[in-house]
Amino acid sequence: MNNIHTLPAEVIHRITAGEVIDSLAAVVRELAENSIDAGATRLTIQVYPELWRIQVADNGRGMDLANLQQAASAYSTSKITNSEDLWRITSLGFRGEALHSIAQLADLEILSRSAESGWQVTYNHQGKVTKAEAAAIAPGTIITASNIFEEWLPRRAALPPVSQQLKQIQALIGNLALCHPQVQWQVWNNEKPWFNINAVPSARQTLPQILPRVRVEDLRQIVLNISDITEVADHLGTSQIELLLGLPDRCHRHRADWVKVAVNGRMVTAPELEQAIMSGMMRTLPRDRYPVCFLHIYLPPAQIDWNRHPAKSEIYLHRMDFWQEQIKRSIEQILRLSSSEELLIPTKVAQLLTAAEQPGGYQVPQREVTDGGWQNSLELKAVGQLLNTYIVAEHPTGLWLVEQHIAHERVLYEEIVNAWQLQDLETPLLLADLSEKQVDRLQKLNLEIDIFGAGMWAIRRVPQPLLNRLDLAAAIIELSHGNDLTAAQVAVACRCAIRNGTTLSLPEMQNLLNQWQNTRNPRTCPHGRPIYLSFPESALSRSFRRHWVIGKSHGI
Ligand SMILES: [Zn+2]
Repeated sequence: MNNIHTLPAEVIHRITAGEVIDSLAAVVRELAENSIDAGATRLTIQVYPELWRIQVADNGRGMDLANLQQAASAYSTSKITNSEDLWRITSLGFRGEALHSIAQLADLEILSRSAESGWQVTYNHQGKVTKAEAAAIAPGTIITASNIFEEWLPRRAALPPVSQQLKQIQALIGNLALCHPQVQWQVWNNEKPWFNINAVPSARQTLPQILPRVRVEDLRQIVLNISDITEVADHLGTSQIELLLGLPDRCHRHRADWVKVAVNGRMVTAPELEQAIMSGMMRTLPRDRYPVCFLHIYLPPAQIDWNRHPAKSEIYLHRMDFWQEQIKRSIEQILRLSSSEELLIPTKVAQLLTAAEQPGGYQVPQREVTDGGWQNSLELKAVGQLLNTYIVAEHPTGLWLVEQHIAHERVLYEEIVNAWQLQDLETPLLLADLSEKQVDRLQKLNLEIDIFGAGMWAIRRVPQPLLNRLDLAAAIIELSHGNDLTAAQVAVACRCAIRNGTTLSLPEMQNLLNQWQNTRNPRTCPHGRPIYLSFPESALSRSFRRHWVIGKSHGI
């Protein structure tokens, strides 16, 4: 099944102009993806940038001599056997020509062992075997590409300096590892250990290995089986969404460089899906900060809209609104507070679909994940107020401090967004000296505003929460400086929220806690500030050295 076939002629012309081997990183990519396709769980990558040599060794299914003889010939692939398959590509993409392309650009040597016997084979630049002899190696495959681009010096000259090429390779391997967390990566640079990425149950444990400042506890992962959503199950088969998200009160980036999307094991550019992530995270992060997010969708290849891919790496899906909705829902679920805040219980995801075992099916790897079974009703109990600013609350896992103003601001903001209402004033509000731009902005917000006299304006309709406020004039001036409706909603929520410094009674605090913990995004305020700080009991007992005292008094 996984052997290499020579393609029928009708398929050949459909394959676009071959693979783009444009850098050392591209050589690493093609070889590593081939290894993963061969079922490898351990890859050792040797990079010799100054020698223009890449070697990838894996423990996957090896090739026998017959396969090796065809492996680098033109238009050979083990993945595509007829033209129909081109449209139902199930693995990482169609890179059938990768080895042929590499043979054209480099000296290619493959050592491989499938059953008892291993072979060492070298190829010429046409991909024809020039030498094949028996070799003793462990099961798996070692592919070496040497003298890359030696007969194509302009390409070498066009490549960035070595340090940058190494960065490309490191980023590429990081992406591959996120897509395939069950694979172990050992990477060497000029015979010296460079970096490792360990095999782990899910991408949640991979990401901190790539971004060391992010901790596993800062990340939440949710797995959504589309088959559980009945109305679409028959269209989408056993599709699955895995969403890994950095909690907005714990990590974010100054660039949008960590909004990553993969489809069926391959990192892709998917503008509409990225957009859905960004809008799902709106008003949870500080200004000009971006989420840490890895979205991995498994779906039947028929759901990919092949007619719309201008670049091979850019991808569009059918039923895009459906996927965007699922992403939004997944983000909301992750951002909710859970009663077992830090105690995520790993659950085994059941092996999906029998189709995966059939030819033309697609694989949903089995792995452990932390699922999204949050409880919405928590048992946060108000026990006091600190400095008239923080609510001291007891949580099943320990002590929480909740800043009263921004917690209330989050509650009001979501209420206001859900039901933005304008209401007529009994007596119009008169304002003087508004600029044209300010008037324009107030009109865009649909506040009824007209000229009242020389330099005077009358406002006849205002956002409902502001209606009876003494600081109405100041509030409207503030809105006239804002950019859009969202900014206006944030400003109204902030103005109407309980000020810090206000004394609250226990029932008032409890009421606020109840409302706040049921908001969609309780972690941060609409400006992106964290709303609460938790002190888990485990940390408290460590601070108080509770383990020092065994069987003595001290109230234990
Ligand atoms: Zn505020």
